[in-house]
Amino acid sequence: MPITGDIASIGECMVELAPIEGGFYRRGFAGDTLNTAWYMRALLSPAARRIRYVSAVGTDGLSDSMVEFLAANALDTRSVARLHDRTVGLYLITLAGAERSFTYWRSMSAARLLAADPGRLAAALDGVGLVYLSGITLAILEPDDRSRLFVALEALRQRGGEVAFDPNIRPKLWSDRATMAAVITEGYRVATIALPTFPDDAELYGDESPAVTASRIAALGVGEIVVKNGAAPALVRFGQQEFMVPAVEAQPVDTTGAGDSFNGGYLAARIACREPSEAAALGHAVAARVICLRGALADMELFADLRVG
Ligand code: ADP
Repeated sequence: MPITGDIASIGECMVELAPIEGGFYRRGFAGDTLNTAWYMRALLSPAARRIRYVSAVGTDGLSDSMVEFLAANALDTRSVARLHDRTVGLYLITLAGAERSFTYWRSMSAARLLAADPGRLAAALDGVGLVYLSGITLAILEPDDRSRLFVALEALRQRGGEVAFDPNIRPKLWSDRATMAAVITEGYRVATIALPTFPDDAELYGDESPAVTASRIAALGVGEIVVKNGAAPALVRFGQQEFMVPAVEAQPVDTTGAGDSFNGGYLAARIACREPSEAAALGHAVAARVICLRGALADMELFADLRVG
């Protein structure tokens, strides 16, 4: 699948406050679609591929810092809209032993309006050959904006672009299960590449096995499907072919970002014209390293030996 043009990842980046010693917190930036963009960036040369982050932030200093952070890591920020009456979402991590719990302030975040302006959305996807989004991207949008995004993605698909979708199921972000199931199914319908996680889809749709998950998604018109399944092999379905790709053995210390980093590895390899089996192996290799480190965003240099383009 030769992909021409830019890569775009659409979603919400948040401010993360993580506890350090003495009651202090370290400020970071995080978000599922940022994580995937990050690992695509780590594996593809900035000289060869532009990776846009498509989102919205405020015009305050904290929003400025987030945009500077993205740009400093070679992510293209021209499609990060600046909205003067909003700011960025924030979450704070609380530790109780090894368990982490999260408190969120995101209901009024600017990213919820990322698809509100049709002209801005069209510009964000202009010249894009592959777009990545998640169920979290869909969950934070108002229904009208979500429909607008689906129309724009369908248009991109019609002009030969790839639409990669990970449902990244987070029941708390949805008003009810029926809406969540229906919108995620719609996400699959518009996708050309689906990247689900088996236990999550099994819980929502009652799938008995990864093969059933893949068949259900294929029936929605998706030609390329990777069903992740933790330490177990990933099932890849590509057209009529189906194969299992074993994970890399790892002793995880923090599985935050496992699926997102797998997606980054898989998509980077596909963008670099590698076969799906090789792409899934790269996804596993990236994820196995990420889960052995704390936090979702690891130093990109740690992945230099895995670069594909
Ligand atoms: P998610 O993070 O979306 O819940 P998974 O748990 O399926 O997704 O993990 C995504 C990927 O992370 C897996 O496909 C695999 O590559 C890697 N991974 C997760 N857990 C392990 C593990 N215990 N050992 C090795 N690899 C793992």
